[in-house]
Amino acid sequence: MRSIGCSVRVTESLIVLTCPNPKISESSLIHPKRASVMASVRIQGLRKSFGNTAVLRGVSLDIHDGEFMTLVGPSGCGKTTLLRILAGLDHADEGALFIGDTPVDHLPPKRRDVAMVFQSYALYPYMSVRQNMALPLLMRRLSRMQRMPLMGRWLPGTRTTLGEIDSTVIETAESLGLGNLLERRPAQLSGGQRQRVALGRAMVRQPSVFLMDEPLSNLDAKLRVSTRAEIAQLHRRLGTTFVYVTHDQVEAMTMSDRVAMMMDGEILQLASPQELYDDPSDLRVAEFIGTPKANTLPATLRHDVLRVANEVWPLHGIAGHELQLSIAVRPEWWSLGSTNARVSPSEGWIDGDVSHIELLGSETLVHVQANDLDSVVVARVAPEAARGLLPGQRLRLSTRRVLVFDAQGSRIRSVRWAGGQACDAASADAEGPAPVARVA
Ligand code: ATP
Repeated sequence: MRSIGCSVRVTESLIVLTCPNPKISESSLIHPKRASVMASVRIQGLRKSFGNTAVLRGVSLDIHDGEFMTLVGPSGCGKTTLLRILAGLDHADEGALFIGDTPVDHLPPKRRDVAMVFQSYALYPYMSVRQNMALPLLMRRLSRMQRMPLMGRWLPGTRTTLGEIDSTVIETAESLGLGNLLERRPAQLSGGQRQRVALGRAMVRQPSVFLMDEPLSNLDAKLRVSTRAEIAQLHRRLGTTFVYVTHDQVEAMTMSDRVAMMMDGEILQLASPQELYDDPSDLRVAEFIGTPKANTLPATLRHDVLRVANEVWPLHGIAGHELQLSIAVRPEWWSLGSTNARVSPSEGWIDGDVSHIELLGSETLVHVQANDLDSVVVARVAPEAARGLLPGQRLRLSTRRVLVFDAQGSRIRSVRWAGGQACDAASADAEGPAPVARVA
C-alpha cells in the first residue's frame, strides 16, 4: 500500500462493524466519531507450556468494562504470553477466554475486537505516519479489490471509505498531538512520537480492548514519565478497557485501576495499587512493589518470643514454638534515633552503622549495616532527619509498622504490638482483636 492519498473530508455516513462482542453485533451502527464500545474480559484457568516449561499455570482474571488493568511481574513470569493469548497471537493449552459474554478462544486476532500496541512499536518504516495509522482501517474496511492501486479507487464505495478513514486518522492524530507530523516517516520521529503513532494506529480501530505490551520500555526516563501520564489520560478519555503489561512497578502503580502481580506463571495478588503496597498478601509482592524495595528481616519466634537480629520485638498474635518468619519494613516506616533512644511496646528496633547516605533533595536514603544481619537496611527519611549524619555513625532504626510473613512467604495478618496496637495499616482499619494465627 503506497498511500491512501485522499483529500475527501468528514462525511456523516455510518459504519457497520463486524465484531464478536454482542454489544456491537453486525447490525450495530457505529458513527465514525463515536467513542469505542467497552468490554469486560474474563480469563478462566489459562494454562500454557512451551515444551516442558509451564509458563502459565492456571491464570484466572476478571477485567471490568473500561478498567485499566496492569499485569506486572519480573521478566519471564508469563505476562506477554498471557497478552498474546488474549490477542489471539498464541493459543492456550487449557482454559477459556471471554470478551463481554462471548467466548473468543477460537476466534482469529482480527475478529476479537482488540488492538495490541507492542514494545517495538512495529511501525512500517517506509510508510508515513498517516499511512501507518490508516493501515488497520484499510485492511478491515476495504475489500482486496478496493485496495488495488489505481483501479481500486474507482470501485463503488472506495472513495467514501477512504475519506472516512482519512478523517479518522486526522482526528486521532490531532488528539495525540501528531497532527503536524502526518507526512513524516518513523525514522523522522522521536521515540515518544513513534510510540504515539503506534497508539494512534490502535486507536483508529476503536477496539473494545487495548492490549499494551511494555509500550514505554524504549523511551528514556524523562519521556517515560510524561508518556505514562498521557496513556493514563488517554484511558480516561476513551473509557475503553486497557490491559497493560510491564515489569516496571512504578508504571503499574501510577496508571492502573487494578494490578495483577504475576510471578512464575501465576497471579500472586490482584488489588488496587495502594492495596498492593499497604497490604501485600505475599512476601514476593511486598518486595516487588515499592522503590527502594521493602527491607526483609529474618526473624525467629521461639516460645512466643520474637527476635529480629538478636533484638526482641514486642510482636504478638502468632502461636508457635520454633518458627522462621520474615518481617518486611518499608524504607519510609523507619525512624532514626541514637542507640540509647527509648522504644515503646509498640515498636521494633535494630542498631547498626551508617554505610552510605543518598541525598535525593526531597528525601534522604540512609543505608545501615545492622548488627547480625547480612543485608543492608535502607531508611527513607526527610532531609532534616538525616542532617549531620555521617557514614560509620552508629544509630538505632525503630518502626511501628511491619508486615509479617511465614516461612512460605504468606502474610500473617493477626500480629499486634504488645500494647495491642495494630502493626500495619490494614489491621489498624479492621475492627476488634485479630485472632491468633497458628503457623505450621
Ligand atoms: P518479559 O518482561 O521479559 O517480556 P514476560 O513476563 O513477558 O517477560 P513471557 O515473554 O511471557 O514473559 O515469557 C515467559 C516464559 O516463556 C519465558 O521463560 C520465555 O522464555 C518463554 N517463552 C515465551 N515464548 C516462547 C516460545 N515461543 N517458545 C519457547 N519459550 C517461550
